[in-house]
Amino acid sequence: MINPFSKLGISDDVVNAVKELGFENPTPIQEQSIPVLLEGSNDFVGLAQTGTGKTAAFGLPLLELIDFKSNKPQALILCPTRELCLQIANDIKNFSKNTQNAHVVAVYGGANIMQQLREIRNGVQIVVATPGRMLDIIGRKAIDFSSVKYVVLDEADEMLNMGFQEDINDILSTTPDDKKTWLFSATMPPEVRRIAKNYMDNPVELTMGTKNTGNVNIEHEYYIVKARDKYAALKRIVDYNPDIFGVVFCKTKMDTQDVAEHLIKDGYNADALHGDLSQQQRDKVMQRFRDRNMQLLIATDVAARGIDVSGVTHVINYALPDEIESYTHRSGRTGRAGKTGVSICIINAKETGKIRQIERIIGKQFTKAELPTGFDVCEKQLFGLIHRVHNVEVNEEQIDKYMSRINDEFADLSKEEVIKKFASLEFNRFLEYYQNAPDLNLSADDRFDRGERGERRERGERNGRGAEDGYSRLFINVGSVDEFTRGDLLSFVCNNGKISGKAVGKIDLKGVFSFVEVENGAVDALFNNFKDVQYNGREVRIEKSGEAPVGGRGGERRSGGGYRGGNGGERRSGGYGGDRRGGDRGGDRRSGGGDRSGSGRRGDRSGGGSSEGGFRDFSGRSREERSGGSGRREGGSGNGGSDRRRRS
Ligand code: AMP
Repeated sequence: MINPFSKLGISDDVVNAVKELGFENPTPIQEQSIPVLLEGSNDFVGLAQTGTGKTAAFGLPLLELIDFKSNKPQALILCPTRELCLQIANDIKNFSKNTQNAHVVAVYGGANIMQQLREIRNGVQIVVATPGRMLDIIGRKAIDFSSVKYVVLDEADEMLNMGFQEDINDILSTTPDDKKTWLFSATMPPEVRRIAKNYMDNPVELTMGTKNTGNVNIEHEYYIVKARDKYAALKRIVDYNPDIFGVVFCKTKMDTQDVAEHLIKDGYNADALHGDLSQQQRDKVMQRFRDRNMQLLIATDVAARGIDVSGVTHVINYALPDEIESYTHRSGRTGRAGKTGVSICIINAKETGKIRQIERIIGKQFTKAELPTGFDVCEKQLFGLIHRVHNVEVNEEQIDKYMSRINDEFADLSKEEVIKKFASLEFNRFLEYYQNAPDLNLSADDRFDRGERGERRERGERNGRGAEDGYSRLFINVGSVDEFTRGDLLSFVCNNGKISGKAVGKIDLKGVFSFVEVENGAVDALFNNFKDVQYNGREVRIEKSGEAPVGGRGGERRSGGGYRGGNGGERRSGGYGGDRRGGDRGGDRRSGGGDRSGSGRRGDRSGGGSSEGGFRDFSGRSREERSGGSGRREGGSGNGGSDRRRRS
């Protein structure tokens, strides 16, 4: 039987390579575009969702069209993010693994430019690049695009959203006029139309699926809750889906970090991905997610764009995107490669109009879902546990030596009693938390009478002073300029204040100062012990926000020393706020990113189910990472305050 890719005109070497990747049949987009692109004589516009096999749709024809005897760049693929760039380059390397003398280079910010220049110098035929770094390299006259025959603009809508229009113009002006341009986009806003018109000559246009139609494998649901119940709703959704492997989208870097930190503190296996992290940190987060060492990735749109991680079960829109079109990109993280997935929106009553708009764009209806009750969650978790117990692999050899003692311990209990006790061990923790858990679904009365107001404070909400209930927010005059990570600061405060790490809550690392939240009950002890503390010859003082300092002997005033220096510190660690291509270009200049092991034990705080859903156990190690600075565009004037503890 002839291989279906061969039938489309793909040569044996490439067919064998994709076979090894498990591609048995072309996806619809590949089936439609490969024959057109193989002709090599047309400009092309493909309107296609992410996750549909787009990379092979243009990658395989490129491999047929390129002359691999020559070592000159013949194809340039531009894409919006570093992650996507690496993904595409990797995919094409895999497709061309049997192709003699095929060289693919990934050109993106945040990595050593010298290495990329070296690869270019050694000869490449396919360049996959993000616009910022590409322009840098062109500016250095380090690449010759005079032999480029094909330019691919992947996720064109996103590149424009990110403000790359000018860069793309500049880059394309260095390529020959008679090259062919292939543009792929999930949506077709007027700006993309304009590009197609300006850069292309009578392009062949293919719409894969219905125009703007979302992936058919994705179910869309929304939950209406009060704004203040959003976080509790998120946890309930996660608790109700014990096997969730999901991406949670927030609107801002701060929200992303905040939600991730709350989840981590509440014992979930989560981490944040946003532009304030150094590239190294982002890579690590992504690697952990890809390896499934993390259950929930909390991300901004920009950071998670184009990411291809297979098996994502849920996308959760913790906040709806500003640009409704971005919803398609978000939900496209799930339901990939033929798998099914659920895309969930947690909204307030005023946002139902936006849901209707999204429905029009994706051409699919949302289901209005009800958040599970506390009882539902308990039941789901209980049976999740029962199934896990039932299916657990027993290490007979290891457990055997303990069996007789274990049997002795249970000698006075019947089988039924033993089962009941094992089940209760886990179940009680859920029950304890959830037995009085309120119904978070917004009733019609709530929606119309009380609106978004309300008296009850969500646990974990900040109190008037900006600290969580039960905690005091303390100012301390050390921070990231002292090369402290959060872990360092935790140890520093605990060691000098002689308090337990468990008493420390949120740590907000700034430039020359920081804020540390400490349990009210531990504050006096901390102040009593924190005397004559020095760091690098500087007196360290700690004080309640707005109160007299403790530790230092007066002198320096907080507003002067702290905040003024704070800016300096932020600039120093953050880097490239003003440059909209900060992360993309500048990353290599910020080499500071090594890991540092910390001694703090924040992991201790995850236990105990102290807040909704705080019942996941983690035995993993914790570590801190030194932040290098801001990522691309999102980076802003980041203070590099991404030093965070993580659990794996
Ligand atoms: P893409 O849209 O190119 O990011 O591809 C989405 C996912 O589908 C990737 O994990 C690809 O490896 C996978 N994929 C692409 N084409 C095929 C195919 N013909 N058969 C099976 N999987 C594929």
